[in-house]
Amino acid sequence: MLSYRHSFHAGNHADVLKHTVQSLIIESLKEKDKPFLYLDTHSGAGRYQLSGEHAEKTGEYLEGIARIWQRDDVPAELEAYLSAVKHFNRGEQLRYYPGSPLIARQLLRDFDKIHLTELHPTDFPLLRNEFAKDERAKVMKADGYQQLKSQLPPLSRRGFVLIDPPYEMKTDYQDVVKGIQEGYKRFATGVYALWYPVVLRQQIKRMTRDLQDTGIRRILQIELAVRPDSDQRGMTASGMIVINPPWKLEQQMRDVLPWLHKVLVPEGTGHAKVEWIVPE
Ligand code: SAM
Repeated sequence: MLSYRHSFHAGNHADVLKHTVQSLIIESLKEKDKPFLYLDTHSGAGRYQLSGEHAEKTGEYLEGIARIWQRDDVPAELEAYLSAVKHFNRGEQLRYYPGSPLIARQLLRDFDKIHLTELHPTDFPLLRNEFAKDERAKVMKADGYQQLKSQLPPLSRRGFVLIDPPYEMKTDYQDVVKGIQEGYKRFATGVYALWYPVVLRQQIKRMTRDLQDTGIRRILQIELAVRPDSDQRGMTASGMIVINPPWKLEQQMRDVLPWLHKVLVPEGTGHAKVEWIVPE
């Protein structure tokens, strides 16, 4: 079943959080003058038209990227992310939202590598076209979880893996943990970032318990909630779980998250938190 289309959700508050963390990790890895692999297991289409039928239907980006991209009090932690967004929106109007592959494309250096996988029959060719002329990129119509076995460890021995499944199937909550275990077995020094939605809090509690049970250390959780937890339908919060975060990430997110929460949720509901699931 592949009914999820990210075009309905592009640029929402969850994307803002995810792509802020993604860009900060990339910028940290760039501090060393050595190449690294960016592996995006669930890539999506790459580019989303915000005036398109899908984004207009939900209007989610209006409560996400539209609230921050043109402010003049933006904290430094958002600079890299917003520079990528602005690259695709040269004028005053917010027309396109770059997904994680295009944010990586903008921020990575010539000698870094990009491996992208996407399974959706409509989104895959769109993604492939975006990267047709990019010599750093390998774009595959393949299962993202499988890449955690076949693409790791990277030749460069440095890497950042973004795992961003749609959680259409309940098994995704267990599959991500198994996938991370497989990846970590092969490449224990990599940076892994797992995105999650909070729809039912119990699912996330179970997933974090399963992650703790793997024995993996250095697992940081970053979460932004727009509403309190609820047993009604719908996502109330989202988060990023980062294994082996670059040393600055915890403080960067502690600094920027209150600002993001204030601007994205002017009504003040929900919460923002940064905490270790498993420390050193
Ligand atoms: N990472 C993207 C971004 O931030 O712009 C968004 C990705 S979206 C949340 C999840 C994507 O995973 C969907 O486009 C879906 O088609 C794709 N997908 C679902 N199952 C997959 C699998 N097993 N392997 C690879 N891609 C998959």
